[in-house]
Amino acid sequence: MRNHILLFGPPGSGKDTQGKILSKVLNIPLISSGEALREEIATQTKIGLKFEQLIKNGLLVPDEVMYEFFKTVLAKYNLKEGFIFNGFPRTVSQAQFLSGYLESRGTNYDCVLYLNIEDSEIIKRISGRLICKNCDAVYNIYFNPPKNDMECDICGGELYKRADDKETIVKRRLDVYYHDTAPLVEYFRSNNYFFEIDGSGTESHVTGRLLGVVL
Ligand SMILES: [Zn+2]
Repeated sequence: MRNHILLFGPPGSGKDTQGKILSKVLNIPLISSGEALREEIATQTKIGLKFEQLIKNGLLVPDEVMYEFFKTVLAKYNLKEGFIFNGFPRTVSQAQFLSGYLESRGTNYDCVLYLNIEDSEIIKRISGRLICKNCDAVYNIYFNPPKNDMECDICGGELYKRADDKETIVKRRLDVYYHDTAPLVEYFRSNNYFFEIDGSGTESHVTGRLLGVVL
């Protein structure tokens, strides 16, 4: 079984959902950098305050601050028994730092899962999304359309599209993602613990493919 996992995938690849499922099935923590950061800021820890200051001033986060953040967050977990990292590392130098840090904790990665999916399907998944103003139910005009146009099946509320779900914005988000992540994927690709997983199709199909690798 592989249970020291790095999970990657573009926005709309379903990696958050799949990460949660894997975490349950393998009984290991899902450690998401976004959530961890929000928590550090909300509880006003030393590293949280540092981040808040940088974000407020629109400054880039220096590597040393990022490393301190990783150490602060990861200290809360018994990493030897397994983990899924979601949303980090973001760069090759962060990956190298983390590998060294994990070794100092007596462990390391044994699995890099890269959820790959065609841009055209991601764009349909995200730009087709409609949300109910009233009850937050989520629909998709391509995969799960409401029975009546722009009206919630459950409560009859009006449906809307989130501003950052528009097609041009989704394309831009994908460009940024590939630009940032491509060197990292190349860095891991030659390792025998790198697995590129087809992220297309239904949620349960994708889960099946992922479990086929880790179990
Ligand atoms: Zn509704």
